[in-house]
Amino acid sequence: MIVQGHEWSASAIERCDVVVIGSGCGGATVAKRLAELGHDVVIVEKGGWYTAKDFDQREVNMLGKIDGGRGLQTSVDSSISLTYGNNVGGASVHYWADSYRTPPDRLALWAERYGMKGHGLAELTPHFERIEEDLHIHLADQSHTNRMNQLVFDGASALGWSVRRVPQARKGCMGSGHCMQGCSYDAKQSQLVTHLARADQLGARIYADLEAVSLRWNDTRIEALNARVLDRATGRTTGVNVSIEARIVVVAAGGFGTPLFLLRQGLKAHLSAVGEHLFCNPSPMVHALFDERIVQWRNIPAAWGVEEFRVAKMDGDRYVEGGYLLMPNQLQPGLLAAVLPGIGAKHHQLMAQMPNLGGTIAWIDDIDEGRVSLKGDRPRFYMPVDGGNGLRIRDAWRKQARLLFEVGAREVIFGDASDTRLTDPAAIDSTVDGLDLRPARNIFAAPHPGGCARMGDDPQSSVVGFDHRVHGIDNLYVSDPSVFPTAPSVDPSLTIMAFSYVAADHVHAALGS
Ligand SMILES: Cc1cc2nc3c(=O)[nH]c(=O)nc-3n(C[C@H](O)[C@H](O)[C@H](O)COP(=O)(O)OP(=O)(O)OC[C@H]3O[C@@H](n4cnc5c(N)ncnc54)[C@H](O)[C@@H]3O)c2cc1C
Repeated sequence: MIVQGHEWSASAIERCDVVVIGSGCGGATVAKRLAELGHDVVIVEKGGWYTAKDFDQREVNMLGKIDGGRGLQTSVDSSISLTYGNNVGGASVHYWADSYRTPPDRLALWAERYGMKGHGLAELTPHFERIEEDLHIHLADQSHTNRMNQLVFDGASALGWSVRRVPQARKGCMGSGHCMQGCSYDAKQSQLVTHLARADQLGARIYADLEAVSLRWNDTRIEALNARVLDRATGRTTGVNVSIEARIVVVAAGGFGTPLFLLRQGLKAHLSAVGEHLFCNPSPMVHALFDERIVQWRNIPAAWGVEEFRVAKMDGDRYVEGGYLLMPNQLQPGLLAAVLPGIGAKHHQLMAQMPNLGGTIAWIDDIDEGRVSLKGDRPRFYMPVDGGNGLRIRDAWRKQARLLFEVGAREVIFGDASDTRLTDPAAIDSTVDGLDLRPARNIFAAPHPGGCARMGDDPQSSVVGFDHRVHGIDNLYVSDPSVFPTAPSVDPSLTIMAFSYVAADHVHAALGS
């Protein structure tokens, strides 16, 4: 059952076994699994419910509906552009559907450095297999390889870099290229058409336009979640409140939303790690003009991915290179116009050549951490892009420029505030060394936030235990990338879902006792 904000006529009290806050990869998966295990589940989602018939393939319409900050929100010093979900299905509704398993080397790092238990290869593999089957995850094939994808394969191969087909969560993809506007064909296997649809069939109640606000406590136990109905058009409260009395509360409000919710409950006073250790995979893009037509906005975003640099190479403590995945970029014309440099005639001249514009993007495996905090009730997101992150960003710029020249780029465009461009590959190193990493000089996306409710044994340095339960609270759990100790070094959705299966097992066990 899906209930939208306008359907509530009066304040109400609801009861259930488990209430889940958020309906993205984390929330939808844990809710689906718990419903499958026979529990009465309520999902509270502050965003709206949109389906294929609403996905009109118009960037401005859809950005306003399914992006949390309407595409306009940045970190506190304007270093990072924030992109996150605000709708039933969360960010999976506008994601690219790249679906990597967590690499074994990253799971080993989490176990060795952070003492991670219960989330190793042996525990996660059955969940990966189940999710891959349910979401029809398969390697992209040639029919889904657009020209930019092909150029990434050609360039990486010519340079001797490891490049592989990207696993995709799709079924019957039409190749429209409108993944980021929500799939009009229900082919992309977002949470909307997979785990939420299944949870719905199993009797879970999904409440859209309902914002989780506060918790009602009895000592170390939560008795109820207080939520308020939002008017979708304005985002304001309607005055209707819903109190949900649940035996267990699971927070899955996303990498930005979960720390905000926990901070608003005053939990930082007891658990100082709340809001700390933010990662978000800052993503530098490089654009390029080709003599041939690229038409980057058609077909799937990333059929090939360069894995050569996923793990950073170090010489002792000295950074050498890498620490990112390098992908073809896909931007629809509106977003492309927003990220291309210049104004007026200069910008127009670039846009006039739009079909010949291609580009790449890299997910930086951030090493220096950011933070989520509140000033009054206003969220503040901070992410450093200098230091170790800056070294990785510069290296990713260099490698992207090399690849783009290798496949015939006539001009490489960094898209920074100084509109730095290159026509001579010999000048890559000196040019990239000179790029300005100060805030607001570049556009870095932040599609993969997490880390701000980190897992661990010690309440001094972590927020949840390895059973996903918040330290010191009997019945509060977290099930999203906020629990990861670092970024997973690949796109995170499959890791989030597999961790959520583990979380569901712990919640199930707690409900049984
Ligand atoms: C453009 C883009 C492309 C991406 N492509 C890929 C990809 O190809 N592969 C991949 O693996 N990952 C990709 N990602 C990342 C991936 O989509 C996210 O990491 C993942 O979906 C996050 O899931 P989540 O459950 O943590 O959070 P979200 O999906 O953000 O869901 C959290 C939900 O909680 C809701 N919420 C927050 N606060 C409250 C509250 N107080 N009350 C009620 N509800 C609340 C939000 O509205 C939101 O819907 C992409 C992301 C973006 C933005």
